[in-house]
Amino acid sequence: AAPERSTHVVLLACPGTGHVLPVAELARRVAGLDGFTATLVTFTNFSSGDQYSSTFASLPPSVSTAVLPEVSIDDLPADARAETRIIAVVRRALPHFRDLLRSLLDSPAGVAAFVPDLFCPWALEVSAEFGVPGYVFCPTNLMALSTILHTPELDRTTTCEFRDLPDLIRLPGCVPLHGSELLDTVQDRADPAYALVVDLAKLYLLSQGFLVNTFDAMEHETVAAFEELSDEGVYPPAYAVGPFIRPRSEKSCEHSSLRWLDEQPAGSVLYVCFGSGGTLSREQTEELAAGLEASGQRFLWVVQFPSDKDKSGAFFGDGGRGDGDSPVKYLPEGFVERTEGTGLAVPFWAPQVEILSHPAVGGFVSHCGWNSTLEAVAAGVPTVAWPLYAEQRMNAKMLSERAGMALRPEAREDGVVTRDEVAAVVRELMAGEKGASARKKARLLREEMAKGLVPDGRSRQAFEAVAGRWKAAGNGMAAA
Ligand code: UDP
Repeated sequence: AAPERSTHVVLLACPGTGHVLPVAELARRVAGLDGFTATLVTFTNFSSGDQYSSTFASLPPSVSTAVLPEVSIDDLPADARAETRIIAVVRRALPHFRDLLRSLLDSPAGVAAFVPDLFCPWALEVSAEFGVPGYVFCPTNLMALSTILHTPELDRTTTCEFRDLPDLIRLPGCVPLHGSELLDTVQDRADPAYALVVDLAKLYLLSQGFLVNTFDAMEHETVAAFEELSDEGVYPPAYAVGPFIRPRSEKSCEHSSLRWLDEQPAGSVLYVCFGSGGTLSREQTEELAAGLEASGQRFLWVVQFPSDKDKSGAFFGDGGRGDGDSPVKYLPEGFVERTEGTGLAVPFWAPQVEILSHPAVGGFVSHCGWNSTLEAVAAGVPTVAWPLYAEQRMNAKMLSERAGMALRPEAREDGVVTRDEVAAVVRELMAGEKGASARKKARLLREEMAKGLVPDGRSRQAFEAVAGRWKAAGNGMAAA
C-alpha cells in the first residue's frame, strides 16, 4: 500500500516578536507530532531579517518557512496605531497568501488545516474558499480572547467609551474588569483600530476552534467556563495547549548580561524589561532609575529610548534616532556609574528566556506581555506587574488577583509610578513577605505548567485532540 500521506498544517504569524516566536514554537510542536509537517508563513513588513533568524534556523526540517512579499502601507497616517498597521499589512497581503495557499494545496503535501494567529483572521476567508478548516492561534491568554470575542456585543449595547462604563464587565470564568482594563485598542471608538477589533471578533467565529497559548492551571475557571459556552454553540471550542516558549539557545547564552549574572548571588537580581515594544516617558524613566537605585537591590534593566507620546514606541524600532545612539545615555546623570557592580543597563534587547532561568534572577519587573508572563512562570520567577499597552492591564489584574504571582505598584493620578513606590515594591518583591508568597505561587505554577506538558498532561491532551481533528480533515481531503 502507498505510505500514508503526512498531515500538513499551514501557520500564519502576523508581524511582531510576540506573535512570530510563539507561532514558530507552535509549528515546531505540530511537526513534532507523528506524521505531521508544518509550513510557517510570515510577512516581510516590520521584520528585520536577523530578528528571528536563530529561531527559524533551529526549526526541524519538517517545518518549512515562507515569507509573503512586502506590501505598501505608506498611505496610512503617521499616527496610525500598531494594530492598524499590522492588520493593514495582513489584509493587503491576502492576495499573496491566496496564491501561496493554492500552490501548497496543489503540492503533494496538500493542506489539512490552516492556523492564522490573532491578528490574521481575515485569512480564514481565503482558507474557507478552498475548504481548508481554520483554527485561530491566540498567543495571549483565554481571558483576553474572551474579552475580544465579547467586543461586538459591548459595541452594540453601549455608546460611551468603555472606560466610562459604570459597571464591571463580568465574563464567564474571568476576573471582573473595568472597561479601562480592556484592550487599549478598543479604548477610543473613533480610532480605526476599534472597528478592526470588532471585525476581528466576528471573523473568529468562522474558525473551527482556538489554540490558546495558556494552560489549564493558569486559567482553570476561564477554561471551564469557555468549554460551557462552546458546548452551547456560542463560540468555537478553545484548546489550552500552551505554553509555547522559545527554547534556550546556546548562542544567546553567550550574551554579556549572562556573564554578569554568573557573578551575582543566587536569587538576588531583579530583571527589568518591558517587552519588545514597551517604552516609558522621560519622567517615568527617571523615577524608575531612582527607585531601583534607592531599593538597594541588584538589577538587570533592558533599556529603550524614552518616549513621551507612546507606550509601545520601541515596537517598530528605535524611533529613528541616529546610529550609535544608545538608550543607556538617556538614563539619569551618573546613574550607571553609581550602580556599577550591582546594576547593569543593557540597551534594546537581552536574551530574556535565558536570563529568567538564570539562578541569580529572583524577580521581574514586567509589562505583562503574555510571552514574558509565560517565561516568568516557566522560570518560577514572581513579577512586579507594570502594564503598558495591548491586553497588559487585564493580564496584570489576573496575575495579581488570581494567579497571585505578581505585586502591583500604585501609580500617581497622572499615571507615573514614583521613585518611592518603585523602591518599596521592588524591596517587597525581592525581600518582603508578599514577594515570598508571590514567589511560592510562581513556583507552584511552574510545576503545574510542567505537568501539563508531560504525556497525558492537560496541554498535551488538548493539543492531541486538535491534532486528531486535523488528521481526520487531512484524510478527508486526500479521499476527496
Ligand atoms: N524579549 C527578549 N528580550 C528583550 C525583550 C523581549 O527576549 O529584551 C522577548 C521575550 O522573551 C518575549 C518576547 O520578546 O518572548 C516579548 O513578548 P511579550 O508577549 O512578552 O511582549 P510584546 O513584546 O509582544 O509586548
